[in-house]
Amino acid sequence: MAATMFHWLVFILGAIVGSFLNVCIGRIPKEESIVRPPSHCLNCNKPIAFYDNIPLISYLLLRGRCRSCSERISLRYFFVELSMGLLAVALYYRFGLSYEFFVGFVFVAALIAISFIDLDVRIVPDVISLPGIVLGFLFSVVGYFFIGAKDEIIPTPVSSLIGIVAGGGFLLATAWIYEKITGVEGMGGGDIKLLAMIGAFLGWPSIPITLFFASVVGSVVGLTCMLLTGAGRRLALPFAPFLCSGAVLFIFFGEELIQLYLPPG
Ligand SMILES: [Zn+2]
Repeated sequence: MAATMFHWLVFILGAIVGSFLNVCIGRIPKEESIVRPPSHCLNCNKPIAFYDNIPLISYLLLRGRCRSCSERISLRYFFVELSMGLLAVALYYRFGLSYEFFVGFVFVAALIAISFIDLDVRIVPDVISLPGIVLGFLFSVVGYFFIGAKDEIIPTPVSSLIGIVAGGGFLLATAWIYEKITGVEGMGGGDIKLLAMIGAFLGWPSIPITLFFASVVGSVVGLTCMLLTGAGRRLALPFAPFLCSGAVLFIFFGEELIQLYLPPG
């Protein structure tokens, strides 16, 4: 079946991009180049041969260890490649080979990189979120004027602009009020730019849904962690992965979720 074959190709493309995302996740926080030097073991510095650098497969064959020094390779590498591969196939199922697929692919790749960098070092890197805001808006302009994209995940340029302002503005206001009341800096500036980027890509209706999802799931996970570890209230969870998950949810179920609070027009 041709379709099955193509699903595999999309999965492999996703996994290869995932492999590149792993490089970005490791190097962007250190402000290193993402093209040079070639991949090397973080423990023994030996360059990684091309046959040990095949997405997903090499990790399994090497059983998660470096060939030279046997140091454990983080499971993150495998997980990022698998996530990007699976999400690419999911996007293909949802949108076929289309403009929406292409935009969704770029967006999801950025979300994965941001999530894992935030998990790693508690930073939402500006070098992804700021160009992301511009790119999301440009995609909406191209989609509206040149592609005639339907308002599925490609918003109108106006919706994209409102999304940027609403996404950034809402969190800015929340952070400001929180700081006034508690005297503690709450929401990071990185989360604010991330939500503005999500608004740029998905339009303003995605903002309440993404925020609602991230707050609820974030609270549940946060409380669970506190109970399990006894860490108390000072436990600071990275918020970006929850925002990103909310955005991914919106890509696939946005149309249906909007119906919950906007009457069909
Ligand atoms: Zn090594």
